Formats: sequence, C-alpha cells, structure tokens
Amino acid sequence: MLLIAPPGAGKGTQADRISSHFGIAHISTGDLFRQHIAEGTPIGQSVKEYLDRGDLVPDDIVITMVRKAMEEAMSGTGGYLLDGFPRNLAQARLGYHLASELGATVHAVLHLDVSEEELLRRLLDRGASGGRSDDNEATIRHRLEVYSTQTLPLLDYYKGRGVLVTVNGEQPVDDVTAEAIVALEKMRAAAGA
Ligand code: AMP
Repeated sequence: MLLIAPPGAGKGTQADRISSHFGIAHISTGDLFRQHIAEGTPIGQSVKEYLDRGDLVPDDIVITMVRKAMEEAMSGTGGYLLDGFPRNLAQARLGYHLASELGATVHAVLHLDVSEEELLRRLLDRGASGGRSDDNEATIRHRLEVYSTQTLPLLDYYKGRGVLVTVNGEQPVDDVTAEAIVALEKMRAAAGA
C-alpha cells in the first residue's frame, strides 16, 4: 500500500494505525531520513540540506534506501505501507518495478485530502510547539508547493490504474482511520489479496 498526502495531513499517525490493522510494515521515508541524520550516517550527511530546505531528496538516494526497507518488509511481514514515497512520477515508476521484482504489486493507494489553509495552520502550530526543524513558515510553504507541483500529479497516475482511495483528512483522526480502513478492506477484497 502507498500513502500519498501533503505535509501536515497526519500521514505518520494514520500510517501507524493502518499498517497495524493490516499486519504490514510501516515504512516512512521521512522518518528514515531523519534517523540517518540523527545518527550522522553518510546518507544522513548527504540529505540534510534537502530536508532543511523542504526539497525532495534526489531519486537515486531515495530508491536505494527504499529498496532495502522494502526487501526487509517483504521477508518479514510480507507487505508494507509506504508513507511518503513516491513523491514524483519517476519514483512511482521506479517503485513499481522494484515492487514487481520483489513480488509485491500495488494493491491500493490512499490519498488524504486536506485543504492548504488547514495544512498551513497545523504545520505552523506544530512548529510553534517545538515540532520538526522543517516546520518554519518559509520551509512549510515550500514543502506545500513541492507537494502540489511534484506529488499531486501522481493521483491521476494511480486513478488511471483503478487503485486510488481518497479520504477527507479534515475529519477527526479516528474517523479518518475508520473510513480509510473500510475503503482499503474493500479494495483488498476486490483484488482477492
Ligand atoms: P516527510 O516526513 O514525509 O514530511 O518528509 C520530510 C522530508 O524528507 C521531505 O521534505 C523531503 O526532503 C524528504 N523526503 C521524504 N520522502 C521523500 C521522497 N520519497 N523523495 C524525496 N524526498 C523525500
């Protein structure tokens, strides 16, 4: 499964809940990058400036990291929910090939829909209460712009493949989870997975 949602939509929270409901691994590319940075690894050193600016990390670095996480997930739980990947069309295509090699196909893509006004409010709140270092106004605005120009076009790509589920992400957190699980279960039943 893939989760596509703008910054501030509640990706991490929903991905945790949904992946445990389905008994699959939760892979968050943002969390993996922050972990590399905190540990000062070579990957961490090469990606820090991108995260600080709110730009996308180059695809080759992302793919190498995601490949490893996907392989581990497939040999562990046999499935995964990717949170924060793909972020552009090139990653979607590469991710598809990678998944096919590993015997996993995309069963569903969950999209959380939240208005830009609400996202800005949430992220500024998170920044004010000591949130992430990329939660300052300039970086937030840039991340939202990167999302709408590079990531949003993916929705059409997945819609065309009949795997897209869109849920209103402005509802209370529990309602978002419940609606997402019902829709994803339906898709799983239809795919016979
Ligand atoms: P997130 O935690 O998903 O909001 O991601 C935080 C930051 O990590 C983003 O602003 C990007 O700099 C980087 N990042 C996370 N996932 C990706 C990805 N799939 N491709 C490129 N950059 C990413």
